[in-house]
Amino acid sequence: MSIAKSWPHVSLGHFPTPLEPLDRLSRELGGPRLLLKRDDCTGLALGGNKTRKLEFLLADALRQDADTVITAGGLQSNHVRQTAAAANKLGLRCHLVLQPYVNRHDDFYMESGNLLLDGLLEATPHFCAAEVSRDSEMERIANVLRENGATPYIIPGGGSNAVGGLGYAAATEEIMLQGGERGYDISSVVVPCSSGGTQGGLVAGFAKTGDAVDVIGVDVEKPGEALKRKVLEVATGTAGLLGLENTDLAGRLKLLSAYAGEGYGVPTVSMVEALRMLARLEGIVLDPVYSGKAMAGLIDLVRKRELPPDRDTVFIHTGGVPALFAYTPLFGRYAPTSV
Ligand SMILES: *Cc1c(COP(=O)(O)O)cnc(C)c1O
Repeated sequence: MSIAKSWPHVSLGHFPTPLEPLDRLSRELGGPRLLLKRDDCTGLALGGNKTRKLEFLLADALRQDADTVITAGGLQSNHVRQTAAAANKLGLRCHLVLQPYVNRHDDFYMESGNLLLDGLLEATPHFCAAEVSRDSEMERIANVLRENGATPYIIPGGGSNAVGGLGYAAATEEIMLQGGERGYDISSVVVPCSSGGTQGGLVAGFAKTGDAVDVIGVDVEKPGEALKRKVLEVATGTAGLLGLENTDLAGRLKLLSAYAGEGYGVPTVSMVEALRMLARLEGIVLDPVYSGKAMAGLIDLVRKRELPPDRDTVFIHTGGVPALFAYTPLFGRYAPTSV
């Protein structure tokens, strides 16, 4: 049975998302064929990668008769925004634990982008300090809600657990089917990595399908073994749900740590270069926190000739574009020119 059908999921987004060649970027870099998986177009309140995870997580919530979901993230979290939208679509209430992980305090960061959308979606916010444990805060809110007769369901940060991982496990089938139909020879998938559920799900999915595809994660937060362990934990959990045991998941996992700069949400020069290149050459808009840093990693891999030259590489555009508006000062004024 296909991965997508082996676990219950609710329909929240537009799938399959397009798989498009980035011919002008490939030519500019003199590299192999690059393909873009448009998960920025999942359709749920401006889209993004969390939609795939939420299709499985919210099916689990409904199965447990939840009437409320609780989740957590940074102030400009795309996960939180998509969760709020998904909850509305299913008629569930939604509470958000929001923490200032990034040292930006200007009006754009504090009022625009994802925060504007969270407000529009009318999710209940709980702002708290960055030092507070988000898991304990979610538990505390869940207990209060339970005392008031509600049935809350907690979704971990980024939706990254075994059930959430099913979203990207199922996406491997979608990618290989589209690749096969168009005669692509996919050797690698490159994806940003933060809470680990996207990469972990992909690793579990390819282990299940048996396709020999490298899953290259680009760490957008902080280099270290902790993230690798997290990815492996999700991959192992998701693989378990898919009935895979004793599979070598660690061997399939590559994590690049050179593109995070000073940390989560802190801009880098190569991220800005990547955003400008994709806009100029392909008309594609990336985000400054995740897909921009990951694309900087991909561009570097191509320039260093580290990808197989005669095979095809898929970059997953995980969305996040609303956060671009929170970073308005980074890009300067769009000045009028005279012709
Ligand atoms: C959450 C997010 C990621 C990272 O995915 P994880 O599963 O948390 O590793 C990448 N890109 C965007 C736009 C995101 O919102």
